[in-house]
Amino acid sequence: MGEFVGMQSLPKVELHRHLEGAIRPATILDLFRKNRREYLDTPLREILPCIQITGSERSLADFLAKFEFFMPCIQTASDISRITAEAVEDCAADGIVYAELRFSPAFIRRLTGLSYSAAVEAVIRGARGARGIDVSFILVVPQPEGERVAWDTVRLAADYMSDGVSGVDVADDTRVLGLEEYVRPMAWARANGLGVTVHAGEAEGPLSVRTAVEQLGATRIGHGVRSIESDAAIDMLIDRGVLLEVCPTSNVHTQATSSIRDHPLPALIERGAAVCINTDDPGISNITLTGEYELVCEAFGLTRADLALMNMRAAECAFASRERRAALLSRLEESRG
Ligand SMILES: [Zn+2]
Repeated sequence: MGEFVGMQSLPKVELHRHLEGAIRPATILDLFRKNRREYLDTPLREILPCIQITGSERSLADFLAKFEFFMPCIQTASDISRITAEAVEDCAADGIVYAELRFSPAFIRRLTGLSYSAAVEAVIRGARGARGIDVSFILVVPQPEGERVAWDTVRLAADYMSDGVSGVDVADDTRVLGLEEYVRPMAWARANGLGVTVHAGEAEGPLSVRTAVEQLGATRIGHGVRSIESDAAIDMLIDRGVLLEVCPTSNVHTQATSSIRDHPLPALIERGAAVCINTDDPGISNITLTGEYELVCEAFGLTRADLALMNMRAAECAFASRERRAALLSRLEESRG
């Protein structure tokens, strides 16, 4: 049990956290009331089952339905800035020293009517007051939207690189369109200095991981846990030094794995795959990164030292400039003592 001591104070790196999935439930209710005059007399606990995992969800689609429910509460750029500021504050309070927050300008635009650039600038403004934490942003291409939206998103990301946007991602329900749809925009993103991570090996099997790495050029994979089903996929990940952004509780909530006990994390580590631990959607899953660290220690016998090492690996694979990565690595190194 001694291993759990100090997980909160361990300096942590969070590479996979969706801003839309990190909104405080109390803020969602407040915004519904302020912007839409809805749920005026409804206590928070009554709308919580629409926002957070209850245990009765049966699929990734049920999980994604939570976003569709609450995203309409956001209407203005200042709402976006507020949720960003709160998300950054929550990261810092969780002992996270470097966070990559990802969000989808296309999703925000569809639900709020804000322009792409208004959405991105609102997020950047919201993170401006961050203290004790370094933050960068990944712009998400929602997988069902197709190549045109992907082009819009990668160009937008390139426009805001000097303001902290450092990468792009393909996410959302990956069964609608094949990942092959995104080969060209992702090649353009890489050529323009953006990092590329892709959600794969979650709802879909190891073939999606191979496509993400071999065709889209991803250097990190969101989840990738189903890589364990293919020796060839694992060998390819190791050969290319690809990092898996593993989100243990989220994988249970989206039914990528049936329970924590059945999670492939220990098998992935055993096989030599590079992994780091992340939250994915802490507001929806009702979790913290500290809690996820404690969970994997308890379930798989990992230690504080194991997690400190994973953080070093995550820092090396961060989509930040060489200087920022070096500063982060020395901060992590110091705390390992
Ligand atoms: Zn994700």
